[in-house]
Amino acid sequence: MKDGADENDSSAAASWAEKQLKQAISAIPQPLIDREDGIVKRQRFQNASVVSKTRELHQLVDELLGAIAPFTPCRRGCSACCHYPVMVSEADVGIIERNTSDRRLPSPLPKADFMGTPCTFLRDGNCSIYAYRPLVCRMHVAFTQTSQWCAPEVSRTQEMPLLRFSGIEEARSLLGGKPPLDIRQVFGPKSASTA
Ligand code: SF4
Repeated sequence: MKDGADENDSSAAASWAEKQLKQAISAIPQPLIDREDGIVKRQRFQNASVVSKTRELHQLVDELLGAIAPFTPCRRGCSACCHYPVMVSEADVGIIERNTSDRRLPSPLPKADFMGTPCTFLRDGNCSIYAYRPLVCRMHVAFTQTSQWCAPEVSRTQEMPLLRFSGIEEARSLLGGKPPLDIRQVFGPKSASTA
């Protein structure tokens, strides 16, 4: 507990997170903000593949995450949001396939509500493809003191402030391609041997 904020009280946790979010935004260096603001324009005129543009978005999110790290409990090894729906683009899937031995299923599984279901790539509480994880995983950033409000069973009970990567989100939407699918539809459910 910090500054008397009660993390178990959802309203107090949300107010704390609001303040942290504001501080996080003001800690981002202006050149990084300018790059995020300008990413749509830059990529529009870039003669590069969708995969390479997606990797550029990964890099930019990672730099932003580095700048706001002191204000968020999100860390490698925290896996609460790995039990949420994880919508992946064709480029996300391509990046995983190019860089790991994991391959998509011959055809996607039917759509389902995957809230509470561990991600295919969650192994012993860690992301097994961390360097190549999809954009949506990188962009889920909480500002509560701990990840307790990210647990799937409580995350829908109280809306908590999250950072919006508006430039990156717009750039991603302009990359086009098929509608995203959940990562479990594409790669299958998490293997029981890795539980
Ligand atoms: S890809 Fe990795 S970070 Fe993303 S939900 Fe799956 S285990 Fe978590």
